[in-house]
Amino acid sequence: LSDRLTETFRNLRKKGQLTPADVDGTVREIRRALLDADVALPVVKEFTAAIRERALGDEVNRALNPAQQVVQIVNDELIGILGGQQRRLQFAKNPPTVIMLAGLQGSGKTTFAGKLAKMLEKDGHTPLLVACDLQRPNAVNQLQVVAERAGAAIYAPEPGNGVGDPVKVARDGVAHATRQQHDIVIIDTAGRLGVDAELMKQASDIRKATQPDEVLFVIDAMIGQDAVNTAKAFQDGVDFTGVVLSKLDGDARGGAALSVASVTGRPIIFASTGEGLDDVEPFHPDRMASRILDLGDILTLIEQAQSAFDEAEAMAVAEKLATETFTLEDFLQQMQQMKKMGSMKKMLGMLPGMGNMKQQLEDFDEREIDRTEAIIRSMTLAERRNPKMLNGSRRLRIARGSGMTVTDVNQLVQRFDQAAKMMKTVARGGVPNIPGMGPI
Ligand code: GDP
Ligand code: MG
Repeated sequence: LSDRLTETFRNLRKKGQLTPADVDGTVREIRRALLDADVALPVVKEFTAAIRERALGDEVNRALNPAQQVVQIVNDELIGILGGQQRRLQFAKNPPTVIMLAGLQGSGKTTFAGKLAKMLEKDGHTPLLVACDLQRPNAVNQLQVVAERAGAAIYAPEPGNGVGDPVKVARDGVAHATRQQHDIVIIDTAGRLGVDAELMKQASDIRKATQPDEVLFVIDAMIGQDAVNTAKAFQDGVDFTGVVLSKLDGDARGGAALSVASVTGRPIIFASTGEGLDDVEPFHPDRMASRILDLGDILTLIEQAQSAFDEAEAMAVAEKLATETFTLEDFLQQMQQMKKMGSMKKMLGMLPGMGNMKQQLEDFDEREIDRTEAIIRSMTLAERRNPKMLNGSRRLRIARGSGMTVTDVNQLVQRFDQAAKMMKTVARGGVPNIPGMGPI
């Protein structure tokens, strides 16, 4: 999707003024791009009609830069459909807050239950996970493992009593939470591979029995055109207050989000981005719109970087930034932090213009950080602290010492300069153009 839109806007940028023919051409391209991304047809129609209407209105005729204006319009409409503002979880006035998860089998409910518990614990809550998927033999056990990894308490039926009653387990779980003073209950439920009347009734009964403050519909972002039918079926059968979009780490980035939000009118609250319990983030409609438009997800990137830094290091870096004494040692430390953060590729995927850089992404190698480390270790302390003194003969010595070439050393210094510039921008409260930490 992103590649296409980038292409469309690039074509548009070459022109000075927007004519109705331009608009129609652009709208056709956007329509095709959205369909390619598996956005449901009715959603695409509605979306492109809105774009067309607005693009042909007064606004654009008066605009100095028509291309920017169309980007703005597409962006606005995307944000609108995706729910506008970021929506937070709603908590009960009288605890426990009950959060029920629903969705097809394999959509990511159980994994998300663990992610949610971990997130809430970080905020000082004491969530209780309740195992109501009694359908699959191993489901209770899976939730137990997830709970342990999340460090969360769990309420599960005793094993060996035959097939239990999930509605009773849900009700008992909430009662248990109240007694044990858990302030949040997360109910994991069963799903099937397709929409199924019996399972839908079960979910609906659990909902009636526990009166959840939130019912979160978990949907796999890779589901494609089926997103609309599945979401509608769950809305009719159980109804939900919000959506969790899972597996956003895969390829299908925009389609399901647009379809589900548009068809159900329910806000997407969380985005799940991997199998690990930390791979989750609040869903930001504006950032998703940017991502779809391939403007990059700079804010999410910065936020992730910040949460991975531990506090002391963050303080030290902040101090450095304030005095603008960012050195190669700091740079190295920063790269090591990024390594800690997990997949570099995932991070890089959030950078702007990545639609054009897929190949470079494929070629990217985390050993790059090790090479960087080797080079920096071959520098004297003085050189690390003042890279400006790195003249030709010093660079040659460093290259020999680290087993790299002078070009490697030059490239490293260049990247460091970019990073230093970016750090200054961030320190002044700006948003950098290039998160220059990536060796690309
Ligand atoms: P459930 O049947 O709805 O409870 O789904 P599970 O939580 O058991 O997840 C099904 C599979 O999807 C498991 O293999 C998970 O590890 C995987 N999974 C869940 N969430 C994500 C995600 O955000 N990204 C990726 N890549 N895999 C996920
Ligand atoms: Mg499950």
